[in-house]
Amino acid sequence: MPPVCSEHSSLALTDRIEHGVEELNLVQTNEQLIGEYAGQEAPLLPLLHALHERDGYLSEDALRAVSDGLRIPIADLFGTVTFYHHFAREPGGHRAPRVCTGYICRLNGSQELLASLDGATGMPCSGRCDEPIPVLLGNQTLVGLSAGALEARDTPMPPAAPDGVEECVFAHIRDPARKTLEGYRSTGGYEALERAVHSMTPDELISVIDDSGLAGRGGAGFPTGRKLRAVRDATGGPKTVVCNADEGEPGCFKDRALMDHDPHAVLEGMALACVATGAERAFLYLRYEYPETDAVLAVAIAKAEAAGVLGDNALGSSHTIKIYLRRGAGAYICGEETSLLNSLEGAHPFPRNRPPYPVTNGYEGTPTAVNNVETLASLPPIVARGAEWYRGLGLGEQAGTKVISLSGDVNRPGNYEVPLGLPLSELIEQWAGGVRHGNAIQAVTMAGLSGGFLAGDDLDVTLDEPSIRSKDSFLGAGGIMVFDETRDMIEIAHSAMEFFAHESCGKCFPCRIGTQRLTERLAGDAGPGDVTAWLDEVADINLTMKETSACGLGQAAPLITESLLRYFPEAVRAHIEGSALLETERTDDE
Ligand code: SF4
Repeated sequence: MPPVCSEHSSLALTDRIEHGVEELNLVQTNEQLIGEYAGQEAPLLPLLHALHERDGYLSEDALRAVSDGLRIPIADLFGTVTFYHHFAREPGGHRAPRVCTGYICRLNGSQELLASLDGATGMPCSGRCDEPIPVLLGNQTLVGLSAGALEARDTPMPPAAPDGVEECVFAHIRDPARKTLEGYRSTGGYEALERAVHSMTPDELISVIDDSGLAGRGGAGFPTGRKLRAVRDATGGPKTVVCNADEGEPGCFKDRALMDHDPHAVLEGMALACVATGAERAFLYLRYEYPETDAVLAVAIAKAEAAGVLGDNALGSSHTIKIYLRRGAGAYICGEETSLLNSLEGAHPFPRNRPPYPVTNGYEGTPTAVNNVETLASLPPIVARGAEWYRGLGLGEQAGTKVISLSGDVNRPGNYEVPLGLPLSELIEQWAGGVRHGNAIQAVTMAGLSGGFLAGDDLDVTLDEPSIRSKDSFLGAGGIMVFDETRDMIEIAHSAMEFFAHESCGKCFPCRIGTQRLTERLAGDAGPGDVTAWLDEVADINLTMKETSACGLGQAAPLITESLLRYFPEAVRAHIEGSALLETERTDDE
């Protein structure tokens, strides 16, 4: 029996892909599986996945064995396991259908599809807003608009850029050969890593990245060169690199396209970050809802290791670069970097208080660079072609490009790599074919949902942080959902707030309670009956959440209600008057 091993010996990974994890795990006892995983880096998640897939759920016996084997208190382990959406605690749960109920899928009829599938449950936006409704069945994703039409499909290729537009991370993505190591290398792949390990110092490497102006493409926008230098300069070790592929923001699906079609570009970016920081280990933390991507990446890592590109003496150098693939289990908050680190460590994935920051106290307390998939995939072309080339891809004062995931009421939804500084209207009208059915645009979301809405004259922004922040929003990870004039903005805002309430980790009460109270008010279920009192109360909740929430979720969720009030005051007023509850009807707990 070959071992089930996520340490990525090529034999184990090849078997894993060819035979399937379930088959390999089937005959292994709890003790055998625990014995295999216990000595690995970040063992809890892969061990839980192995047990979950072997049994079809996580039984109490299995969890007690894990508690003993990994020396995790049983109460802590139960708390952690039940925090994640996708770890089933009932037999058969692993393979029970999960239907995406994100707002774009709701517009496509996901509630009806959910009701038509036996034993199905909903799941938050699963990162396929440019496709029909996704349904997760164990480790397979099917898409379709009805039960009879569900089918497996390849990840959509990004639409071609308009003539004359130069891309960075999408420059080669449409070449089908890029998915293989051979094809990647034949188009210049791993040449940047060759140069970095053989003829550049880490300082030179970081200077190129610094000079390029690249900033975090996952939402935070922190300068990438500065982050890598901070990890390199930090005392202590071993240093660690983490690729944040927990793409959980509704309306964002760009990282999956990059990983599925150009996986080695992401791995090469991770390797470059390792060389820059002096890290010998790196983790790629992938969201649960991308099982096919998990398989693509596992093969890519195994091939790169077998070819000597990764591993000990990477590309014949003195560098050791080990990349470990770890799959999340369904929790939006794990996209927050400190929650992700806790998740990797096997702890409850609450966000950590900061400072200290991950660059000095990250994975297991070591200096850690956490970067988004798109950020890392930008490194190879930047190192290969130079900082000036990358800066020049932007428009005006803006440096570089950004991938925008565009969905909703547009004719051609998809991932578009745009020059930073491109007018939003140009993206929607010229690149994506305009609004469906010739309707007028009513509003868009920014940063997936986290940036709230833009509407009216504020749609006249350019796609860069300074322009969008001047409208009290932000570009973030680059998810933009378009809503035409026929959509009910109160309903959309309610759905968005319901998502945040569902995903609030509950660590701090302004967010835990605030998201619930805002959801109720947008549903018309609770709140003052008087319009002025309703508005005052919502404004008060917004302010409290923004000023006192511990992480980005609680600080961003009020942008939904703030922007709704700003752009659609008449709709809000009609909502309050139409659904107003008298003070006496309010629930006791208020
Ligand atoms: Fe958790 Fe919300 Fe507090 Fe963030 S703001 S730590 S998601 S409760």
